[in-house]
Amino acid sequence: MKVLVINCGSSSLKFQLIDSVSEQCLAKGLCERIGIEGSMITYAPAGGEKEKKVTPMPDHTEAIRLVLEALTNPVTGVVKSLVEIGAVGHRVVHGGEKFAASVVIDDEVMAAVEECNDLAPLHNPANLIGINACRKLMPSTPMVGVFDTAFHQTMPEEAYLYGLPYEYYKKYKIRRYGFHGTSHSYVSKRAAEVLGKKYEDLKIIVCHLGNGASVSAVKNGKCVDTSMGLTPLEGLIMGTRSGDMDPAIIEFLAHKEGKNIDEIMNVLNKKSGVLGLSDNLSSDFRDLEDGYHKNNDNAVRTLKTFSYRVAKYIGAYAAAMNGVDVICFTAGVGENAPLVRTFVCEYLGYLGVKLDQEANGKRGEDIAITTSDSTTTVMVIPTNEELAIARETVRLVSQA
Ligand code: AMP
Repeated sequence: MKVLVINCGSSSLKFQLIDSVSEQCLAKGLCERIGIEGSMITYAPAGGEKEKKVTPMPDHTEAIRLVLEALTNPVTGVVKSLVEIGAVGHRVVHGGEKFAASVVIDDEVMAAVEECNDLAPLHNPANLIGINACRKLMPSTPMVGVFDTAFHQTMPEEAYLYGLPYEYYKKYKIRRYGFHGTSHSYVSKRAAEVLGKKYEDLKIIVCHLGNGASVSAVKNGKCVDTSMGLTPLEGLIMGTRSGDMDPAIIEFLAHKEGKNIDEIMNVLNKKSGVLGLSDNLSSDFRDLEDGYHKNNDNAVRTLKTFSYRVAKYIGAYAAAMNGVDVICFTAGVGENAPLVRTFVCEYLGYLGVKLDQEANGKRGEDIAITTSDSTTTVMVIPTNEELAIARETVRLVSQA
């Protein structure tokens, strides 16, 4: 079956067409500036030339129409007609407590996702718009929703509750949800597969380090804790997000800088993280690594602080699981920044971690980066959220 995977944001839309048998990506691309002047679609068939076209996209329905047109283009397309697309898998950011697994989308599911909008006001409405646009243009194609939060729904109460009045949990469902669940699930399963061990027998810590970053603890095949919370702001220091901090800083800063809550939240989401910590050097780890090699103080401080926070979470999750067998690095930074992996692993001597620097220098493969006598195995597992969504989509559509 050919599965169209859609990841829809408020003004952008990423897509991939995946053959579920070969698990190969047949074509992928991106629509940008939807609803804004200068909208543009990028389309790349596998093994073909990437094309970019500036064209009006007043709304998401037009963006999806253009995606379908590109996929069926007689010259550069990869399918003859839309009938060849057996299903569509949609990434949905927040499923709240309602969705502990992926679902086939119907009107009832749409209404339930809408009820989660409150919890992810920037993401969920955009996801719904994308789904609606697809349903309009492909009314007889089955659609599946795959939630970023679903994998973390197995967390026990002690991991997901905050030390706040319990009535806020009862009234507003304020609790830890966690994100990047599709990636944490894919990477932890893949690690077990590569090691030839049973997923259910392992204690795994996954460090998803990208522009957004989170760590999860996966014990016997189930997530037992994760670093992101009610929103993706909690936890690690990220590209531009602060991660954990004393909540009293919000009031302190508001008074000192004369800012309101919205302005402070904007600082915490967009101007903090490695960007802020590096005194605006960059949010991109390529620049930070480059700066580190040139002894730039801002880069050195930032990489050390970022890595320390990752190591602290690994320690916390090793404690939460009463041990750890495998630690995985994934996503843009986790897969491509050997320096960050080295810094993190320097803290892990107590887990018997012995890094193999040659393996740590490799890129783009599922690989153990510790020596054979390392007590805990550290791995790099490139994530593939689109493939994970496609697999989920096929699984659900085949059951329906
Ligand atoms: P993601 O959100 O997973 O796409 O990760 C994006 C981030 O990965 C970028 O902002 C970079 O900081 C980082 N990144 C990508 N490529 C490299 C690289 N070759 N070396 C270091 N960091 C990288």
